[in-house]
Amino acid sequence: MLVAKELDVKSNEHYHDHERVVYFEHEPAGLKAIISVHNTNLGPSLGGCRMNHYETQQDAIDDVLRLSCGMTYKSALAGLPLGGGKSVIIGNPRRDKTTDLFEAMGEAIEYMSGSYITAEDVGTSEDNMESISKNTKFVAGLPLSVLKQRVASPVGGNPSPYTAFGVYCGLTAAVKYKLKRENVQGLKVAVQGLGSVGYDLCRFLDEAGATLFVSDVNQDVLDKAQAEFSNVHLVGLDDIYDVPVDVYAPCALGATVNDETLARLKCKVIAGAANNQLHRKKHDQMLHDKGILYAPDYVINSGGVMCVGYEFFQLTENPLPYELNEENLKNHVAEIENVTMKIFDYAQQHNLPVGAAADQLAEEIFLGAGAVKKVANL
Ligand code: NAD
Repeated sequence: MLVAKELDVKSNEHYHDHERVVYFEHEPAGLKAIISVHNTNLGPSLGGCRMNHYETQQDAIDDVLRLSCGMTYKSALAGLPLGGGKSVIIGNPRRDKTTDLFEAMGEAIEYMSGSYITAEDVGTSEDNMESISKNTKFVAGLPLSVLKQRVASPVGGNPSPYTAFGVYCGLTAAVKYKLKRENVQGLKVAVQGLGSVGYDLCRFLDEAGATLFVSDVNQDVLDKAQAEFSNVHLVGLDDIYDVPVDVYAPCALGATVNDETLARLKCKVIAGAANNQLHRKKHDQMLHDKGILYAPDYVINSGGVMCVGYEFFQLTENPLPYELNEENLKNHVAEIENVTMKIFDYAQQHNLPVGAAADQLAEEIFLGAGAVKKVANL
């Protein structure tokens, strides 16, 4: 049987007026999970279900609080009628996954009465979402085969291509703003990580005439890139920070903008897909002081959440004033260029580092939606 316990997290350093945090246990299924709803002013909270072998329950709580809050900001600037939430399953994704476990997770999500919508995340898969969907409709990121059984022309599916397109749009905005160039033609771009997003980003950049400098731990993708793209140079894993390029696009790991790399980076723009690119908050100001234009990660990588949102709306109810189809989704993702431009303008007008400007604009949106709450110290 599912046991739910509301958590009081007010004294946690990552607490920022979270609406509701619930700990769940389902002993027969081996489930231990936490769902955190940060803010639902704009709509039900959406955020992935992460499965991770957390050392302690406290680590899991810290992670879910931080991540759910980030989703509120992301959805607000993505122009989605959605709030921010996240869930974590405490367990080893390589060892502890069972159908029963995810069906029990579906019960936990159902317990939240629609205030939280889940999707896949690190450690979970499309198939896991299908198991979750046995007990709740508040789930997206389902396998295409399942979607096709439910809707005639599904929109959504794998979010990575939309993420890549959005990153390309955000990167283009930064190039226009900082380098006064209409596009990336002739520019040098360093792409770190040619995975699902990074590789597609390289394709957009290659087609637009950029010269690529790429690194990855996986030699196969590097070989593929060399065979496919017209102007590509392979760079060592650590050397990527030293290449004299116009743009650095981190698409692998978080925290690659830190004290050490900032002393080395020679780019004028940072625009990539990776989450949490800045190691510490102070690096936002340091980039500002150094004159490097940073396109905020959570803004330009929001194509994925748009895709997941559209899929959920299609499976349930459409809150948007237009049809849910591929073209409208692409147009929505393309808006990332304008939104990123607005953030740059706002940062300049208020003499703020760009990350802080994005946060302020997001707060204006989700706290302005009839809310009186204040989010401090973000
Ligand atoms: P992925 O796992 O498919 O790709 C990551 C790539 O980075 C892999 O090819 C891997 O070999 C490479 N890599 C690992 N360590 C590296 C290193 N030290 N140097 C260079 N390359 C390295 O992941 P993804 O889905 O492409 O996501 C990339 C980043 O974007 C992640 O930070 C992810 O959180 C973020 N993101 C992804 C999406 C999405 O839709 N997939 C959405 C938002 C944010």
